[in-house]
Amino acid sequence: MMIHHTNRIQYVFAAVIVACGLLSRATTALAEAPMVKTQSPGFYRMMLGRIEVTALLDGFTELNASLLRNVSETEIRDLLKHAFIDDPQKLPTSVNAYLVNAGGKLALVDAGGAGLGPKFGRLLQNLKAAGYGPEQVDYVLLTHLHPDHAAGLLNSEGKPAFPNATALVAKAESEYWLSTADPDKAPPEYREHLKSAVKLVRRAADPYIHSERWKTFEGSELPIAGMRAIAIPGHTPGHMAYEIHSDGRTLVILGDMVHCGAVQFARPGAAVSFDSDPKQAVASREALFRRIADGKTLVAGMHLSFPGIGRIRMDGENAYTWVPIEYGPVEK
Ligand SMILES: [Zn+2]
Repeated sequence: MMIHHTNRIQYVFAAVIVACGLLSRATTALAEAPMVKTQSPGFYRMMLGRIEVTALLDGFTELNASLLRNVSETEIRDLLKHAFIDDPQKLPTSVNAYLVNAGGKLALVDAGGAGLGPKFGRLLQNLKAAGYGPEQVDYVLLTHLHPDHAAGLLNSEGKPAFPNATALVAKAESEYWLSTADPDKAPPEYREHLKSAVKLVRRAADPYIHSERWKTFEGSELPIAGMRAIAIPGHTPGHMAYEIHSDGRTLVILGDMVHCGAVQFARPGAAVSFDSDPKQAVASREALFRRIADGKTLVAGMHLSFPGIGRIRMDGENAYTWVPIEYGPVEK
């Protein structure tokens, strides 16, 4: 009995020594290789025929599902659950821009939201990581002038972030933000938001206007080979999608057609609270989805999970599914 007891004590003692040894080895390993805890550079590149498209990540934010309109709380809850999103106040939302190298011109579609806080403003560093400099950009082509798309026209010193670029904006969009927008006439809950957005946009546009590098366009023609504009008004008065076409392949940059992919692909009728004309925004989304859900057309969205490029599959009457592209090598 006594011998048995001693064996047990010895066994426990040995186990403690082994455990201590493992622990100290683990500590040593951690000290030798501390975790890096930074993300890979935010760019993704693909060829569309002879045109090179590079997705650039500007930031990552979390939207609140309460901004969705025309869709019941139960439906939202079910759709978010279906997408494994647990917290309706924290919808994961990328902020993307797309760099298009076409016909000898470099066009950046949207400029991100530099200056809007720590969640935004990584576009310039990701542009450099992608192998380009801001001075090489010929055009900044804006889908619309909300600050998360236009504030990045300026760098952290308040100077034009793209010193040789011309900003290209739909005429209706430019006129609204630079002259006709009237925050005092906006619904009270949106008034302050609109006031600060107008201020930010005018500040970002100012140096481009003064150096005659702020150009507006009407219709679909653009000065970039292989690209044309598609009017999708409603989110803002002059909201534009941009179609890129080369060698029989097409990619449509959706701008802000979709803020919450988990809900708005299945229910394109769902508007968002900051649509300037929600009815028109829904009509534009439904018409564009019908047109691009052909199984071939690639689409890219500023707030779709980075790189935000994929296809839209029609899954019934006015209901769609987002099918992201696979990560892969760049075609030569
Ligand atoms: Zn946006």
